[in-house]
Amino acid sequence: MTTADITRPVFDLPEPLLRIGGARVGAADGATYTSTDPATGEVVAEIAAAGQEDVDAAVRSARHQFEHGEWSRTSGPERGKALTRLAALIEADAETLAALEAVEMGKLYRDSVGGDIPCAAEAFRHFAGWADKISGSAMSLPNFGPQQRFGYTVRQPLGVVAAITPWNNPALIAAWKLAPALAAGNTAVVKPAEDASLSTLRLAELASEAGIPDGVLNVVTGLGPVAGAALAGHGGVDKVSFTGSPTVGQSIRSFAGESFRKLVLELGGKAPQLIFEDADLEAAMPWISMGNFYHQGQVCAAGTRVLAHESVIDQVVDGLVAAAESAVVGDPFDDRSTMGTIVNAKQLDRIDGYIDSGISEGAQLICGGKRERGAGFYAQPTVFRGTNDLTIARDEIFGPVATVIGFRTTEEAVRIANDTRYGLNAMVYSQNISRVHSVVEKLRVGTVWVNGWGVPDPALPWGGRAGSGIGRELGRSGLDGDTEEKTVHIGFDSM
Ligand code: ADP
Repeated sequence: MTTADITRPVFDLPEPLLRIGGARVGAADGATYTSTDPATGEVVAEIAAAGQEDVDAAVRSARHQFEHGEWSRTSGPERGKALTRLAALIEADAETLAALEAVEMGKLYRDSVGGDIPCAAEAFRHFAGWADKISGSAMSLPNFGPQQRFGYTVRQPLGVVAAITPWNNPALIAAWKLAPALAAGNTAVVKPAEDASLSTLRLAELASEAGIPDGVLNVVTGLGPVAGAALAGHGGVDKVSFTGSPTVGQSIRSFAGESFRKLVLELGGKAPQLIFEDADLEAAMPWISMGNFYHQGQVCAAGTRVLAHESVIDQVVDGLVAAAESAVVGDPFDDRSTMGTIVNAKQLDRIDGYIDSGISEGAQLICGGKRERGAGFYAQPTVFRGTNDLTIARDEIFGPVATVIGFRTTEEAVRIANDTRYGLNAMVYSQNISRVHSVVEKLRVGTVWVNGWGVPDPALPWGGRAGSGIGRELGRSGLDGDTEEKTVHIGFDSM
């Protein structure tokens, strides 16, 4: 199948400019970067590359809107209505948003139009519902000397929230960071990844259409070490929420630490899928395969350490091989494709490097492996059998490379699952509720999927432990992280 055989949808690109206080502007120094289609190598757009001066302007605009504008003073119900309108506009615009993501980073158009984009809309709708329910608590206190005391808390917005997002789910992850922040009355500056910026620019256009005031949602497109670093280290920002690599996360942590601002870091994972002998394999196999190959494995929550009980390991390997061999790797816009491209050449080289390392370290290559390079950056779904000490079982590859590892006992499965520097999520497959409970309790991760795999739900917290980062987004905890709780003690004389 080649790109020439398919007709791509026609869609408009947003203006490839910074979005500051409602204005669309180029970078102050005129810098741009090139966004390229990973399936064809064609240039998609020359996008404004923000520098320090532009980031300053965006933060100033967000600060001005927060201090003097209407958003933080708008009532919760009104903020909720605006975010609900935005959710509806995102749904109505799903085809354009999905096409922008497919053309810039090779995600299957179908998965984006039916998955990422509706989920992004759902995140806005979910937090729209919270906008008028942000509350503290109240209680009577013991007397203090002659005074009676009453205490209460209020939750107030932080101010300016900086969101630095990755390329793999650009609109969705922007929505996870923006929806609770805006619901709580904050303003924001978003720095999307250079490989997939356009859907975030489109999101900002839709926010304006939804009636969200200028300056509430600013976008600084640009290079990570320039625009991203300027935003993460900016003194005018009250919170940084970052999703990306551990190396960049470390540097953001050091900036943020100096100023005591709030920080959420989601730094990926190397999730185990624990498959016990009593799992319903027929029901489990599609989830286990999807956890490896969905979006070409370019997912923080991917479950690429497949831990299988020795009595079922051959069936699990066969199931993964069947999924890998039936995958149709092709143009992201082609309805026949079940896997699109890898985001860029560097990432494909990295995946190939891991395949070499698996082979040279003695893992058994069951299927897949490196693929001959053609026009697009396509990777082959690959299955290894090996052990947990292999580099392919220790590093987050961000590609469709599964490593199947055997175990004999529940204790051994849990030990291997926890033997990693990451701690984002895990999957457990078993029909035995007691086993499920005791295993879930012992896994050192932020999220466990039982008998399935999927996308975080906006109603539940998402975030990791250890090398997978700090803090939580989504859920009540995520919303609380976008507010400060202020305590008030009221003294009064008794009658
Ligand atoms: P990935 O490996 O997934 O591309 P990165 O951590 O490099 O992950 O990128 C995630 C986001 O962080 C992107 O928006 C990127 O531009 C940004 N980024 C990269 N380097 C820096 C940096 N030094 N400071 C702040 N943000 C950065």
